[in-house]
Amino acid sequence: MARILVTSALPYINGIKHLGNLIGSQLPSDAYSRAMRVMGHDVLFICATDEHGTPTEIAAAKAGKSTAEFCDEMHAVQAEIAKGFRLSFDHFGRSSSARNHALTQHLAARLAEAGLIEEVTERQVWSPADGRFLPDRYIEGTCPNCGYDKARGDQCENCTKQLDPVDLIDARSAISGSKELEIRETKHLHLKQSLMRDRLRDWISAKTDWPVLTTSIAKKWLDDGTGLQDRGITRDLDWGVPVMKGPGEPWPGMEGKVFYVWFDAPIAYIAATAEWADANGLPDSAWQAWWRDDLGARDVRYVEFMGKDNVPFHTLSFPATLMGASGDLPSGHEDWHLVDYIKSTNWLNYEGGKFSTSQGRGVFMDQALEILPPDYWRWWLLANIPETDDVNFSWEHFQATVNKDLADVLGNFVSRVTKFCRSRFGENVPEGGDWTDLEREAAAEIEAGLARLRDAWEKVAIRRAAAETRALWVVGNEYLQRAEPWAHFKTDPDRAAAAVRFGLNLIRLYAAVSRPFVPDASDRMLEALGLTEADAAWPGDAGTALTALAAGHPFTVPDTLFAKLDDATREALEARFAGEG
Ligand SMILES: [Zn+2]
Repeated sequence: MARILVTSALPYINGIKHLGNLIGSQLPSDAYSRAMRVMGHDVLFICATDEHGTPTEIAAAKAGKSTAEFCDEMHAVQAEIAKGFRLSFDHFGRSSSARNHALTQHLAARLAEAGLIEEVTERQVWSPADGRFLPDRYIEGTCPNCGYDKARGDQCENCTKQLDPVDLIDARSAISGSKELEIRETKHLHLKQSLMRDRLRDWISAKTDWPVLTTSIAKKWLDDGTGLQDRGITRDLDWGVPVMKGPGEPWPGMEGKVFYVWFDAPIAYIAATAEWADANGLPDSAWQAWWRDDLGARDVRYVEFMGKDNVPFHTLSFPATLMGASGDLPSGHEDWHLVDYIKSTNWLNYEGGKFSTSQGRGVFMDQALEILPPDYWRWWLLANIPETDDVNFSWEHFQATVNKDLADVLGNFVSRVTKFCRSRFGENVPEGGDWTDLEREAAAEIEAGLARLRDAWEKVAIRRAAAETRALWVVGNEYLQRAEPWAHFKTDPDRAAAAVRFGLNLIRLYAAVSRPFVPDASDRMLEALGLTEADAAWPGDAGTALTALAAGHPFTVPDTLFAKLDDATREALEARFAGEG
């Protein structure tokens, strides 16, 4: 059995995410982790909130809270919503944790030892009223090109012209509105990614099994224009990981500065793994065995999930950090484990347009859970994950999909088999009869389908895994139509008993293979059969798997697994989430 480390891109702390964010990384990484667990692998599934950066400070100020207090509250909210969607993180950490502070400082110090950090003097806008340097996007003014009066220092949203803060007419702080701005010199650390271009290119070129979406984005950044650029990894802010060479070890000249959020956020994958060890009373060696090749991580398969916008940071910046910090350096030898597979997704659109937080357009994670249980969302989103192209969410398609796949196919099968058995044979797996060609044919179809499903999961082909899972449900329904136990009950009760027994065993198999998609339904199928999560293991050969529940095994009839979404409800939901216009 393999050791598989799975990370989901970190949700930013400043608000509740919409369904497009959910299917971008958290949900597919959960489904994959669950599938690998069902297959018996040793899985560690890690996520965290990404808490640093100016947007957090601004959101906190707007909410009238301190940044730390705001982050505490929003982390709790996001953790609760993650539970609501049954996201099965082994640990949901925080990029603001003490572990992340220490690891970020440690890795930066190693990069400096390796000669990969350069001090650069920059000229930046200083706002005396705010008492801080302002990032370009927090300087507002009138666009010199089109006259739009809320153009940002980096770009005019109205005419898309790229701007420099000095271009703006009537420039002001977007935080305080103060127009009294000055230019000051400030020193920053740059990561010399340009020195690592060849190593990164060799590494990426060897990843022949990665999706084209991933490698093409990485190669574009490696070779665009003058090639991979060095990158500022520090900022003049209060909220973040202080620039130090380790806890209590100052970095001369960098006092009062923090690491840039994009430097510390991916390191939080490692830090959250250390938090996981801490939370479980395990020693450092426990988390290091997942991340340090020199300390036992060589056999780990590390799989990252993210939206396509995050690919450059995960194929270039984060690997540059880990590669640069690895090897023999004055402070000792360390080998950090780089990602083995990156799964990236395209965008989910909402009813032909974009999800919009500001316009209230589209469904947000908390709202989704108020409307329907998580399995409905999980199934539609995973079965339609934007793997090769952007995908559109529409209520009509959602209604049609969940009604057909979940209610008519899976739910109906479970209901028919258990209810028929209870009414004719009672609440125990009936005895009598043997497999006929009907059962042997269905078992052969299941066997072939399981092989295809396993292949889809191993290739992280989630849409295909959903289609293969649905196909397994369909085999059961078609079998039931042909076996017709209700027609045989009076004339040949043994034949009917054998068919029902086969059907009940199929439910046990469905509980295992459906678990990555619809974990609640899986739990209820197991519960109805008097089984536990430990019984939701990947079926071996179909012959054994479909005879596992022997005659006499007790069961109960579960309540309806999936109620149908009716037209009136669907129309009301369409209207509710249409947005302001
Ligand atoms: Zn403009």
